[in-house]
Amino acid sequence: MFSSTYKEARRRFLDTAAQHKLAVDTRVLEGVAGLQGETLATDVVRIGPADAKRLLVLTSATHGVEGFCGSGAQIALMRDEALPALIEKLGVAMLLVHAINPYGFSYLSRTTEGNVDLNRNSVDFSQPLPQNAGYAELHDLLIPAHWPPDDANVAAIRGYIETRGQWAYQQAVTTGQYTHPQGMFYGGEAPAWSTRTMRALLAEYGETCGAIAWIDFHTGLGPSGFGAKICVGDVTRARRWWGADVTSPADGTSIAADVAGPLLDTLRQTCPHASIASIAIEYGTVPLTDMLDMLRADVWVRHHPDAPEALKADIRRQIRAAFYIDDDIWRGMIVGQARAAVLQALYGLSREDV
Ligand SMILES: [Zn+2]
Repeated sequence: MFSSTYKEARRRFLDTAAQHKLAVDTRVLEGVAGLQGETLATDVVRIGPADAKRLLVLTSATHGVEGFCGSGAQIALMRDEALPALIEKLGVAMLLVHAINPYGFSYLSRTTEGNVDLNRNSVDFSQPLPQNAGYAELHDLLIPAHWPPDDANVAAIRGYIETRGQWAYQQAVTTGQYTHPQGMFYGGEAPAWSTRTMRALLAEYGETCGAIAWIDFHTGLGPSGFGAKICVGDVTRARRWWGADVTSPADGTSIAADVAGPLLDTLRQTCPHASIASIAIEYGTVPLTDMLDMLRADVWVRHHPDAPEALKADIRRQIRAAFYIDDDIWRGMIVGQARAAVLQALYGLSREDV
């Protein structure tokens, strides 16, 4: 159920939907082709009672390359023989949103066709945008002229971490910035296609629902294979459903930085009529510094289209390896924890008044 390219993941998702006689709602990203020349699209499948007032949304590839994990989890859930009867009994529908950032998934990049980080893009662009002086200070070091970075660059980054600390480095780099369109964790200057698509899907499918849950699958932070549950909204309901180990960047219990404009905010923005609970499950892969180095390479390769093909292919292969562990134990941890979180959400939703 896990794939090695976006093209293969999309084919597998569509084939699995067809095998289970599930209709697919496809939203095509027009005007740009994939790395292999393929169509880029977000595909959506709704499973469950037509009149369900409770909805569980599952998204993959918010951060493009992280989609190998979420896509595999979604396909495993579609193949789960026990789920259809359960969601029928509980009166809950499931919405599988496959590859909400198809460009990043295809090009093995964390960001969109506009280099936008979707978890920094759901801010109110009519208001002053968050400032990040720490990023501005680091930008030139983070994106050097040559890749891999030379010894002086490596020493300068190491020096920053030694004097300011790992957390300060992570905060400055990952909190998000709106000043360097060719930089890392760039929040954009307007809602991206993926953000607009997600809003449209939530408005459409969530309109008649009184209770909506959302699990957004991510990879790259934390111990390998462990799925950290990170809540960016109402943590009380999230902890009641998913357990006391749900963390919140707002109260400092999370491995992730507290960021403005995560994609999960679109649920609150589009469905104010519903009671909501949402988490990201962040599955660990490789150590933090290695992961951040790969994100530096991700931005570098995007802005050096004339770099040798072999180097670009090698960088993309390394980026993929930093966000997806090609190992059966790791994959098993993904599927098992995803299934547990889905069951918790289904039962949680079934107890909400609608
Ligand atoms: Zn992510």
